[in-house]
Amino acid sequence: MTVAVIGGGIGGLAVAAAVARRGAGVTLFEQAPELTEIGAGIQITPNGGRVLDALGLADEAARRGIAAEAVEPMDGLTGKPVARFDLTGLEGPPYRFFHRSDLIDMLAGAARAAGVEIRLGARIAEVAPDGSFAVDGETVRPDLTVGADGIRSVVRPVLNGADTPFFTGQVAWRAVVAAEAPPAARIWMAPGQHVVSYPLPGGRVNLVAVQERREWTEEGWHHAADPGDLRHAFRHFSGRVRGLLSHVDRVRVWGLFRHPVAGTWARDGLALLGDAAHPTLPFLAQGANLALEDAWCLARAWEEDRLDGYGADRAPRVRRAVAAAEANARNYHLRGPARLAGLGAVKAVGLLAPRR
Ligand code: FAD
Repeated sequence: MTVAVIGGGIGGLAVAAAVARRGAGVTLFEQAPELTEIGAGIQITPNGGRVLDALGLADEAARRGIAAEAVEPMDGLTGKPVARFDLTGLEGPPYRFFHRSDLIDMLAGAARAAGVEIRLGARIAEVAPDGSFAVDGETVRPDLTVGADGIRSVVRPVLNGADTPFFTGQVAWRAVVAAEAPPAARIWMAPGQHVVSYPLPGGRVNLVAVQERREWTEEGWHHAADPGDLRHAFRHFSGRVRGLLSHVDRVRVWGLFRHPVAGTWARDGLALLGDAAHPTLPFLAQGANLALEDAWCLARAWEEDRLDGYGADRAPRVRRAVAAAEANARNYHLRGPARLAGLGAVKAVGLLAPRR
């Protein structure tokens, strides 16, 4: 059996490794000239960590990630803690913070070790309904083509027709600064804005700062932004946040868009996963974790010859995560009297993994 994976992000590399380990001949096509990710961090929760373990990456994940001890919602204006969710007793692998480039490197290593051929600089312009496509002057006709090609997927419309993404009214700045931070994900909440901070290996801190905006034109495009504008936008935050922002010398900004969760995930030798099937707001840190889960479930469904059921199996869980991330977008940004009640409600937020 031959499988083509379009896209060499977290989801594409994971599915390529998982399917190759089950005996398929896999070729992965990535448009970029090298496998890279933007220079930022990523939180891998125990559900995603289980997939890394299953791909043989448990030791490397322990070596290259930082184990998180807690998620700490904070009042962004006063700097005081609102709640603390202890992560040390979770079932499964630890909740970890990684450099994205380390995660991509680990997954690429797992894919290559499983025999995956990775073709770089290979942009697939179009995919036919039977899953075939042209690349470098040849036509590829695999038994299965997987669209792991992110929010502007060329595979998704073949299975689902065109859809209209919508701007969520939020933009996200991302920066990595040289600083120390405790091993916790801190969510600094304020009316209409929040900042997430967590440590990365090498004495760095990852920052995501989110602000509500009326308009934005380009989806998924990141623009170099002025660190001074970032500091100005968050000037009302507590000294601890302003201290972190004072270290920012390079920053990029994204408009956050949503697409509906795809109705059809697999059919006739074509399948979707990750952001190509369900772009997710980052407020639950689940986009990449869901992509890892998709990769594992897709590989298993393929091996058991029940690919048609893969979407129906995955969609309910994914929809819950997408909705929870959307709800967090509101909870983190409450205004007026609702804000205090909202800060209290954050204490009641459930965790994703069962406790031991
Ligand atoms: P992508 O990472 O988008 O990969 C798609 C790949 O396909 C790319 O390499 C692209 O070059 C390639 N490609 C696209 N089109 C073609 C083509 N036509 N031909 C060939 N190649 C193509 N998620 C978490 O789980 N934890 C977090 O902490 C977290 N933090 C986030 C913070 C922010 C600010 C944002 C915006 C997102 C965050 N996410 C997080 C979400 C996460 O980054 C994404 O959900 C995840 O990267 C999606 O992976 P993917 O493999 O599906 O798609």
